[in-house]
Amino acid sequence: MINLNEISIVIPVYNESQSLEQLHKQLTSTLSNLGKSYEIVFVDDGSSDGSISSLEKLYAKDKAVKIIQLRRNFGKAAALSAGFKYADGKIIITMDADLQDDPAEIPKFLSKIEEGYDLVSGWRYPRHDSFSKRVPSKLFNQVTSLISGIKLHDFNCGFKVYRRETAKGIKLYGELHRYLPVLVHGKGFKVGEVKINHRPRQSGQSKYGAIRYIRGFLDLLTVMFLTDYCLKPLHFFGLLGLIMLILGFIINAYLSVLWFMGQGIGHRPLLLFGVLLMLMGIQFISLGLLGEMIQFKTSDTSENFTIRRILGSQRSQNFEK
Ligand code: UDP
Ligand code: MG
Repeated sequence: MINLNEISIVIPVYNESQSLEQLHKQLTSTLSNLGKSYEIVFVDDGSSDGSISSLEKLYAKDKAVKIIQLRRNFGKAAALSAGFKYADGKIIITMDADLQDDPAEIPKFLSKIEEGYDLVSGWRYPRHDSFSKRVPSKLFNQVTSLISGIKLHDFNCGFKVYRRETAKGIKLYGELHRYLPVLVHGKGFKVGEVKINHRPRQSGQSKYGAIRYIRGFLDLLTVMFLTDYCLKPLHFFGLLGLIMLILGFIINAYLSVLWFMGQGIGHRPLLLFGVLLMLMGIQFISLGLLGEMIQFKTSDTSENFTIRRILGSQRSQNFEK
């Protein structure tokens, strides 16, 4: 069995060469005061500004530094999942590399985790970003909270703390990092939040403009679908299809009665609507069934659930720590 560190810090880095040294310094001063073993995992996401040589310098002087260099820019979600895969800490902390997140807040997160949360997400308050970014972000957070039912104020904050099995159990791709709390919550883990100090960006450039939030809303659809309906596609498509089919059937039955009574129905727009509803209904149900077939063929039963613990003389296991 490998020896786990108490803490892993996972930091996605994309063209942040100017802040890395300072970040490492601030992190080291906070972490060394905690008295716990730790590692700092920098994931270089295909930087082209010399970030990698700054990281190599840190690696040369500090044994706690680990570097994962991706072959090209894959995006923050991919960088985070590479970090999660290779992090060996019992607690995994993610933070941005641009010094906007303050390492001095780490103890606050840790005490919240000790209260029994599986994921503690930062709430940047007050937020030091441009107005054009804060406004869509606020809307994004309110809609996400409303639709997902999770009471968080800042879903997309890069500063988050996870228990090991929480971070290890998430599949991340595309830009789904914005919805980490929703994905984690969907797996049955307990999600909490702490208010944190946020700083303006001092150097380098933001990689995400306000416009990205539009894509973000599409991703919300994906996430809700994946967490709620992924395992039962027919329940989603089938229900929609059934409603359409029944409605179309009623309309067409009504028109048929009129036809038998001698009325002409060929010119009625309602006829077209009824036929359309029935056809779409059948298509939706077939789509649901196809989804079920794919699910059946590819499902791996061990991933349909998450376990808190198993009691029993042979194999008592606690998955909480
Ligand atoms: N980042 C990354 N890959 C990307 C874009 C961003 O690893 O393709 C990292 C970036 O280096 C930073 C973090 O993700 O550490 C957050 O990016 P940024 O600060 O630009 O986002 P913002 O704070 O403006 O939302
Ligand atoms: Mg930033």
